[in-house]
Amino acid sequence: MTTRSLLPRCAACQETPEGGLHDGLWLKGLFICSRCCHHLTDWSNDENKYKTLHEALKRTWASNPAWRKYLAIAGNT
Ligand SMILES: [Zn+2]
Repeated sequence: MTTRSLLPRCAACQETPEGGLHDGLWLKGLFICSRCCHHLTDWSNDENKYKTLHEALKRTWASNPAWRKYLAIAGNT
């Protein structure tokens, strides 16, 4: 086993960022690299990275009902 296995892989672009664990953000157990975070708002709905991330989020949140508390917070604003 090498240290490579400790590096995160982005849920959107499926790549490992150069800066490793600190080169992105963790979102409910998913890692999104800083490059994707930066370009997130540029993506369209047909972008492959958007679809990949969307599916990953759906899978994560479907098995974790706790995400609903964030909806409640958003609904109160
Ligand atoms: Zn990425």
